Amino acid sequence: MGTIAASSSSTKRVLILGSTGSIGVQTIEVIEHLNTLESKGKSSVRYEVVGLAVGSNHQQLADQAVKLGVRDIAIASMCEEFDQSSFKVRTGKNAARKLVEDVPCDLVVGAIVGIAGLDSVYRAIELGIDVALANKETLVAAGGLVIQAAQRSGAKLFPVDSEHAGVWQCLQSLSNNYCPPMLAPALVERVILTASGGPFRRHTRDQIENASLNDALNHPTWKMGAKVTIDSATLMNKALELIEAHWLFGLDADCLGAVIHPQSVVHAMIECADSSVIAQMGAPDMKAPIQHALGFQERIEGCASKLDVTKLSRLDFIEIDPDRFPAIDLAMGVIKEGGDAGAAFNAANEHAVNAFLNNKIPFGMIDQIVAQVMNDWDTQPISTIEDVYAADSKARECVGRLCEAIAEKSQ
Ligand code: MG
Repeated sequence: MGTIAASSSSTKRVLILGSTGSIGVQTIEVIEHLNTLESKGKSSVRYEVVGLAVGSNHQQLADQAVKLGVRDIAIASMCEEFDQSSFKVRTGKNAARKLVEDVPCDLVVGAIVGIAGLDSVYRAIELGIDVALANKETLVAAGGLVIQAAQRSGAKLFPVDSEHAGVWQCLQSLSNNYCPPMLAPALVERVILTASGGPFRRHTRDQIENASLNDALNHPTWKMGAKVTIDSATLMNKALELIEAHWLFGLDADCLGAVIHPQSVVHAMIECADSSVIAQMGAPDMKAPIQHALGFQERIEGCASKLDVTKLSRLDFIEIDPDRFPAIDLAMGVIKEGGDAGAAFNAANEHAVNAFLNNKIPFGMIDQIVAQVMNDWDTQPISTIEDVYAADSKARECVGRLCEAIAEKSQ
């Protein structure tokens, strides 16, 4: 027998949706690291990437697919010169969903940015496939539907976002097997997410109003894509994360909070009934939460930067000023409102951020426009994904009208 005996390793087949974005690229790095550990006998799980999906970044996708030996791929916006000969390609708006339906896998990494990521992740959950969730919009826009689908199908949700991964780990310290969509245990009285405060933490509201694109893209602690970097500057990112936490851990608005923590070292805290506070810490490096989500509480050697606590001279926790950063109060309103308010909030923000990135509105109008849309919003219940998309389109139309009015005024 010339073959080497198979080790006792199990194989985990992974689909990466949004593989060329910041989280997708780091997920591949973490998988390569974990497979190196497995080949050295330090881990019992081998990760096999079985499919990759992107929006339009063909060349980088092709490079990733060749390197990882992946045949099944999905590209939402196809270009003619792409050489398809080595791949089985799905194209079009539903390409990522088709990939989920076609390719058997054990885990879907949902890292497509924006509402475009909802459809494929929702389908995976309906099919009972566990999801490492990095796409915020899935829960913000369709949280009720997604959680119900996960409870029906048995799919687990592994949060990749650093704050939710932090909460998850704090909750695991109370109950080893804790994993969303399970409700947080009743002895948890409050969950607190930390926010770096972004580049405008010390700015006055006047300075925030007129911040430039470069200033807004210059995040002090995290390296991320443009949308989430702008969201960090308005604190809309924290607002979206509070809505996500509401769904993931089954907590009401009065059990949720956020504080500014400029060092970005404590990612989340939970306050327990016995008055103890449990915090999760780590260097600001997304590879740590990605590995946790992939390896589900196997605390094996990581490839993320290590935190040296002796290098920390201080840890600050500062209350968020609602006048300078109205996003947090808006999120609490959305959580209380329920129905399609989350879909409207998410779409209004996404559309307003695009308008800012395209130089159509000043920075300070992003949260003002979202506030206006939510103020005028007539909340309806949602029972299907189509209801979510309808609310999404309606909110975008509202933002479009508000942006036009702003443009007219400034002429
Ligand atoms: Mg985060």
